[in-house]
Amino acid sequence: MNAKELREKILFRKENGYDRLPEADWAAMNAYCDGYKAFLNAGKTERECVRESVRLAEARGFRPYTRGMSLEAGDKVYVNNRGKMLLLAVIGEKSLSEGTQIAAAHIDSPRLDLKPSPLYEDSELAYLKTRYYGGVKKYQWVAVPLELRGVVALRDGTVVDVAVGDGDEPKLVISDLLPHLSREQDKKTLAEGIKGEQLNLLAGSVPFAGEDEERVKLAVMQRLYEKYGFTEADFISAELEAVPAFPAVDVGLDRSMIGGYGHDDRVCGYAILRALLDLQDFSGKTAVCVLADKEEIGSIGVTGMETAAFDTFMEDLCESQGVPVRACLEKSFCLSCDVTAAYDPNFSDVYEKRNSALLNYGVGLCKYTGRQGKGEASDASAELVAHVRRVLDGSGVVWQMAELGRVDAGGGGTVAMFMANRNIDTIDAGVPVLAMHSPFEIAAKLDCYMTFRAAAAMYLDK
Ligand code: MN
Ligand code: MN
Repeated sequence: MNAKELREKILFRKENGYDRLPEADWAAMNAYCDGYKAFLNAGKTERECVRESVRLAEARGFRPYTRGMSLEAGDKVYVNNRGKMLLLAVIGEKSLSEGTQIAAAHIDSPRLDLKPSPLYEDSELAYLKTRYYGGVKKYQWVAVPLELRGVVALRDGTVVDVAVGDGDEPKLVISDLLPHLSREQDKKTLAEGIKGEQLNLLAGSVPFAGEDEERVKLAVMQRLYEKYGFTEADFISAELEAVPAFPAVDVGLDRSMIGGYGHDDRVCGYAILRALLDLQDFSGKTAVCVLADKEEIGSIGVTGMETAAFDTFMEDLCESQGVPVRACLEKSFCLSCDVTAAYDPNFSDVYEKRNSALLNYGVGLCKYTGRQGKGEASDASAELVAHVRRVLDGSGVVWQMAELGRVDAGGGGTVAMFMANRNIDTIDAGVPVLAMHSPFEIAAKLDCYMTFRAAAAMYLDK
């Protein structure tokens, strides 16, 4: 054996996905990404994502699950948890006692939520006060067009959908300071340059004629009242989210990437949903898809991954077959599908390149996430990683190993630990993203497509 042969036999070589993806697959990749962009534009909040996912699922034969429903192989069901979390299943021929193939992603994204008493006037300008949701770099949210999406629940129980800034509608914005006067601001750290209480949305400037007190505020509230039928007091029972007011677009002269708001983690949410909707083979285990809320703030609450709503769904499915849920979970597998940090040559010092995910190298498998010494990581076992390698290779999925940045540079978690805590074998995998948590995140089309292919392969794993 010469050195070249030996090298090929025993050394590991990473390969760009474009050197591995057959050209015949390019059309399917682009069609998939067009579908994803449409999903992203339709779902700028967790509620909108659930609504769009239900629409797509029902078009493919899914129906709402009700407790006690008898289920057969090939049946497709879903549970809509409070409009913000979605649980879907495709029943397989194998008994639930043999476990399920689960994929879980989150559909909430960092944004600016309106406070319960948001509307005020200052210097004859109307503003809406916000509290940021999740890990945002505050300076990124000024001087970009924003829109307001969400619901207002009236005291009589009516729920009003709000979409200020949709389509041709006017946008909202948070103004930044002009450089001519920012000598003091420029000396501050990025974290301090824009403060949380400065994230106030500019909402209007025309005074209400004939009034002399807070007349711009009155005029703005009048517009909201006339269009949506709610009053200032109704902000108290509202969930209104300021999100970037631009659509997902192709990025790069070669159109190889997608830029947009909410890749984290709708890019994985769409991948695991589409893979489930496309499932044709029901001869294996039951496939379960979870689109969870509240990951960005700790996965807690009734719609976060820690919710008993997931356990209830699994228990209901198991009861229909007379299987104890614990016997099902201990044999189940979960692909915890969440974005990871793509290596960014502009910020090379926070990455360790050998172990970083690269754009176009496929879906990134993370043995562990977490911070520092694997703190808060669900560390997948060697055996599980080997199993997933085997399945993905067997299905021609382009994948790579990924670690979230240099040791001690920071870190982050996913829903993996909450699945693993339930005695489910769990591994993290997802799309490598540049500028994660910014209003305009970037992902490579090849990696988006390969995450979908990975989810499809894992659902079918017997
Ligand atoms: Mn995420
Ligand atoms: Mn995140």
